[in-house]
Amino acid sequence: MTRRAPYPALTGAEPCRQHDEPDLWFSDQAADRATARRLCHGCPTRVACLAYALDHPAATEHGIWAGTSRGGREKLRAEFRRANQISKEQQT
Ligand code: SF4
Repeated sequence: MTRRAPYPALTGAEPCRQHDEPDLWFSDQAADRATARRLCHGCPTRVACLAYALDHPAATEHGIWAGTSRGGREKLRAEFRRANQISKEQQT
């Protein structure tokens, strides 16, 4: 069984929790998403948020998570899969 990252322990200090317009993280406007991505970079929960988003693609299909777009998360998952494959090959 593969262990997956839990939902991040939110403190309330996260920009997506404090912002007047939390819909920025799920906006269809590129400028809004850019603002959300920028705000995520200062988030104290960003690492745990990214781990959760990468491990739960269905639950995080939409929106900006930890400063990443859906496409960005897909690229990161692909990079991790390749790295895992290389690591396994080096162990055999
Ligand atoms: S990193 Fe995650 S928890 Fe933090 S502001 Fe961005 S979406 Fe919210």
